Amino acid sequence: MRQIGGVVFDSLALARDNGEVSGSLAVAQMPRLAEYAPAPGGELNCSLRGGRGEDGRLCLWLTLSGQLRLTCQRCLQALELPLQLESRLLLVPAGAAWPDEELVDDSADAIAASAEQSLASLVEEEILLALPLAPRHESCALPVVDGADGRPPSPFAALVRGK
Ligand SMILES: [Zn+2]
Repeated sequence: MRQIGGVVFDSLALARDNGEVSGSLAVAQMPRLAEYAPAPGGELNCSLRGGRGEDGRLCLWLTLSGQLRLTCQRCLQALELPLQLESRLLLVPAGAAWPDEELVDDSADAIAASAEQSLASLVEEEILLALPLAPRHESCALPVVDGADGRPPSPFAALVRGK
């Protein structure tokens, strides 16, 4: 599948021309996800389609599917997070009034239009909005962390602490 991590496009032009970009995107190309993992990984199928919403405004429709590899915020082990996301992005041209909160229906996120929109950073932004605050396994244990003396954790540390 076509790698589209490096794609840069004019977002208003894509919407006006009913354009489409689709392909495969490496999660490693989204540096802001590093907040969730030292080395975020995984591969996403991505499709971005331009057009007009029912109200005639220029929009982009983004569909993402795939697997994110992050770090569990509780046990600090690898966490595979399936991702399935569809969103409508309402383009706000430079100088245009930002839509009022009440006027933007829940099905759309308003984003600033850009003549040099990076696909990877747009996708990254949508993933960051969709991710839970602290992604973690449904059930896992806290890692046993030893005290400040730097010794390796003892298997009895949890028992001792329980005293
Ligand atoms: Zn965990």
